[in-house]
Amino acid sequence: MRPATHLLGLDTWETEDRVKAELGQPRASVACIGPAGEKLVRFAGIFNDKGHVAATNGPGAVMGSKKLKAIAVSSTTSKINLSDPERLRALARHDWADSASESLLGRSIKAGGTLGGMAALGMSGAFPIKNMTTCDISDYARYNLDDICSLVEMKPRPCWACPWAHCNDVTVKEGRYAGLKAELPEYEDMAAWGPLIGNADPAAAIMLSDLNDRLGMDVKEGGFTVSLAIECYEKGLIGPADTDGLELTWGNVEAIAELLQAIAHRRGFGEVLAEGVMRAAQRIGGEAEHFGVYHKNGIAPHTHDVRPKWATVLRQAVSDMGSGMSLDPQTSLYADIGHDKFSPAYSVEELAAGVAKIGPRHQFGDSLITCFFLLPKELSIMTEAVSLATGWDFTPEEALTVGRRILALQRAFNLRHGLTPDKDDILSSRIAEPPEMGPAQGRTVAPVFAEMKRVYYRHMGWDEETSKPLPETLRALGLEAVARDLWE
Ligand code: SF4
Repeated sequence: MRPATHLLGLDTWETEDRVKAELGQPRASVACIGPAGEKLVRFAGIFNDKGHVAATNGPGAVMGSKKLKAIAVSSTTSKINLSDPERLRALARHDWADSASESLLGRSIKAGGTLGGMAALGMSGAFPIKNMTTCDISDYARYNLDDICSLVEMKPRPCWACPWAHCNDVTVKEGRYAGLKAELPEYEDMAAWGPLIGNADPAAAIMLSDLNDRLGMDVKEGGFTVSLAIECYEKGLIGPADTDGLELTWGNVEAIAELLQAIAHRRGFGEVLAEGVMRAAQRIGGEAEHFGVYHKNGIAPHTHDVRPKWATVLRQAVSDMGSGMSLDPQTSLYADIGHDKFSPAYSVEELAAGVAKIGPRHQFGDSLITCFFLLPKELSIMTEAVSLATGWDFTPEEALTVGRRILALQRAFNLRHGLTPDKDDILSSRIAEPPEMGPAQGRTVAPVFAEMKRVYYRHMGWDEETSKPLPETLRALGLEAVARDLWE
């Protein structure tokens, strides 16, 4: 433990550089908070290796509350004892790598990271344009991989040992932000600082993404909180006297940059927005409560217009992590668990059953602590890797049990700490509004959402009313003590 008073106020990139320099360990990894974490902004994140972020649920504010500015970790030369290192290495280099490259997600990520699918998402009605007040994408044609890449010089900076050139450092080549050095934003950042706030210029979105990262804030909650403020300003609920003179109009990126500084430092109107989208809407009051986009105890969704994707609304609402806990059965295929065709849109039973089927597989993949994008298509390759690493005879069925156990434990933990099933119901008015155009024009999940939730609970082996994992479910997962705790 070392004093960090001299690091107070530094942004996440500056903190990382200073900590490495002070330790004399340029190859250390540093996880740190920026000004937002120090000021306990509710959506402050923990940032590491310049651009990697753990942000949902405000873990940066937890570090800030403990006055913990940074954690530095250095690699060692300790040997990891593996059961069969040669075969594990061969599996990783061939079967695993080949399969990951061929998956739907892998093909897209390899081709251009999460920006690779951005144009298609826009066409499918997924851009959350102007706080989801419109579905008109005509101003956002430049939000596609080719146009974004043409604005910058790129230098690959993938994660350690990653064979894919996904993460890149960029320098903006021309225009107002020429010379700006940043990490190439992911889809979520470009959507948040582009269409969501009515900004048609991708270079300005790169500037805002970089600033938000350096200040140390979650892009999802930050984006939807700023877009809420702009809509409130447009509709006269707040004015310059409330915003410390900032003109919060759609696409006014310089004002938004100042607003991000105010939020991170909890200055003036930033103090209101530092509470996140639901609480900010409540503080502003009146119609603002209808403009806020959030679910699940007030957490903003991913920066998509989720209204055409009913399964995505469900999986984000019932996720015990507060964010999406698996991929969407409408757009993902996993033949080895029987999900071999896309679930039809607007089918309550099939979408909810699909979320319940994919969730455990996804949780198992996450528990391996490899990159989610690099997971192979076949579950059997993952379980073979576990067997070769540990010497166990580990099967796909056991892997799915592990996934179900994780989900049951998360739910039991949260129920014990105050989660009630009605919190799974929270869909803000804007999410419940039918889109004005696009594939889901005139449709809304709201009337069937309670039923979708019940179907999901049933398929998980949870009580349909309380969402408690049933005693027999818990016992089958080896969680006898949890069954006693929840039910006796
Ligand atoms: S490990 Fe994953 S996140 Fe990192 S560069 Fe590779 S694909 Fe991207």
